[in-house]
Amino acid sequence: VAKSGGKNRVRVFERGMREEVAAQDELVRDLRRAVDGGELRLLYQPQVDLRTGAVTGVEALVRWQSPGRGLVEPSGFLPAAEATGIVDAIDDWVIGEACAQLRSWDAAGLPELRMAVNVSPRRLATGDLAASLAAAARATGVDPGRLEIEVPEAVAAGPDAAAGIREVRALGVHVAIDDFGTGSSSLARLRELPLDRLKIDPSSVALLAEGAAGGSLARAVVALGDSLDLEVVAEGVEQPGQLAALRALGCGAAQGHLLGSPAPAADVACLVRTGRPLVGAA
Ligand code: C2E
Ligand code: MG
Ligand code: MG
Ligand code: MG
Repeated sequence: VAKSGGKNRVRVFERGMREEVAAQDELVRDLRRAVDGGELRLLYQPQVDLRTGAVTGVEALVRWQSPGRGLVEPSGFLPAAEATGIVDAIDDWVIGEACAQLRSWDAAGLPELRMAVNVSPRRLATGDLAASLAAAARATGVDPGRLEIEVPEAVAAGPDAAAGIREVRALGVHVAIDDFGTGSSSLARLRELPLDRLKIDPSSVALLAEGAAGGSLARAVVALGDSLDLEVVAEGVEQPGQLAALRALGCGAAQGHLLGSPAPAADVACLVRTGRPLVGAA
């Protein structure tokens, strides 16, 4: 009995595996059609200068509006895209769309915003990220100095990112370290890279709500930014107390639900234009 029970468990396990593989194949098949089929969307999250309260830029965040699956978050398709290489086409689309959006906002008379885009780790390593950025900037007439790529700390600390980062920076595109405080990059390594900004991870920002001791991580990142001459952007700001604490620490910029959730381009334009009072802004 124990033995046949074991066999059954193996069969159930195998069926589960087959179903998972089939579902993954289907995801990849749908995803291949998504880019050319015009199913990707960008949302834009405002980035606020904490000294002035003004929205000075946005971060582009990709979504997949799938006919069959509904609106899919990055965590639902980027891992498969990364594993299959489809992410290269996604990155190119994001970069092109983000540049085109900057030009539409310019044409609509908005103040010149900066645009941060997230790029896949493999794109930095394969070496043609700079070419993609240069092509999109040229095609749209966007000054590369208005663009920023976000590189997760864990990727920036690895051996394959440095050359790509230098190429991108040489174009005049800015470089931010994303999710800073979650990796283990050495100070020596950071100093070797041509960086512009450090983004404090939401997990460190969340600790700010927990009183003086909780602020030590965020405080350390702001101090590090000062000493390396990098602007610090806090990510995931949700509470007024966190915003006040970040200001008191001298953090330069912030984004988060409190200041504006990721939103379609038209909503961002409205926010920038009406200057909707941002909570706690100076
Ligand atoms: P990330 O670059 O660190 O993006 C920040 C994430 O925090 C976003 O999730 C954003 O929606 C979310 N967020 C915004 N405000 C708050 C807040 O107040 N509190 C908290 N807890 N979270 C907040 P999202 O859009 O699901 O993106 C997840 C990740 O997917 C991104 O992390 C980035 O690594 C990746 N990603 C997003 N868009 C792209 C893209 O266009 N290309 C590539 N290659 N990766 C992307
Ligand atoms: Mg999300
Ligand atoms: Mg990011
Ligand atoms: Mg982040």
